Amino acid sequence: CGIVGYIGWREAAPVIVEGLKSLEYRGYDSFGVATGTDSIMVAKRKGRISEQAECVVGCHGTRGIGHTRWATHGLPDDRNAHPHTDCTGQFAIVHNGIIENYAELRRGLESRDHRFTSDTDSEVIVHLIEEAWEGDFAAAVRSVLPLLRGSYAILALCAGSDEVIAARERSPLVIGLGDSEFFACSDATPIVMYTRDILVLEDGDMAVIREGSVAVENGGEVVAREASYVDYDVE
Ligand code: GLU
Repeated sequence: CGIVGYIGWREAAPVIVEGLKSLEYRGYDSFGVATGTDSIMVAKRKGRISEQAECVVGCHGTRGIGHTRWATHGLPDDRNAHPHTDCTGQFAIVHNGIIENYAELRRGLESRDHRFTSDTDSEVIVHLIEEAWEGDFAAAVRSVLPLLRGSYAILALCAGSDEVIAARERSPLVIGLGDSEFFACSDATPIVMYTRDILVLEDGDMAVIREGSVAVENGGEVVAREASYVDYDVE
């Protein structure tokens, strides 16, 4: 259970793959990456990323999200690996943690004709975003977060939007502030080789990350989160 997101000027998939490898100690039964601009590309597999990272070669673009999973709901297999996408393929999410009320949320979504492709608790998040979307990605995610009970670090991607959205509740999530590039990760390990300026999100925070800016809000109110300088040696 580790997540990595990237938005900036590099190809996102190789950055995310390297980041996920360094987070493998957090869980490693499956992994996946989604990148996107006008459409979203997903590659995900059961097993360790360090042994089959080549499966992400088809994922292009300068923004993306990735996940290394430690299953809590649903077997460790290809279809339960994250990222999860909605029925239209417009949105993708990765999630660390547990959505405690997922069964109830899923029943509601299924009764409204959402088709699920995994057994995870996490997949409800992406269908809820799809349902809430009225043209504004941040507004859709903002309206979904209060529906979720449990713990989460979430990264979300939307085809056609220039944003990556991050949110946390009782699960760690930090944002690395680079030079015209940003990293969102479970911890600073994958980030320190690119930047030492790290912003630590707090419970209830949602961050809208664009190519030139990060805006953090909590409960719909804009909040200031100071970046701190991480001073430790990397090999
Ligand atoms: N509960 C989610 C799942 O089972 C996320 C697990 C994790 O944090 O890796 O897929």
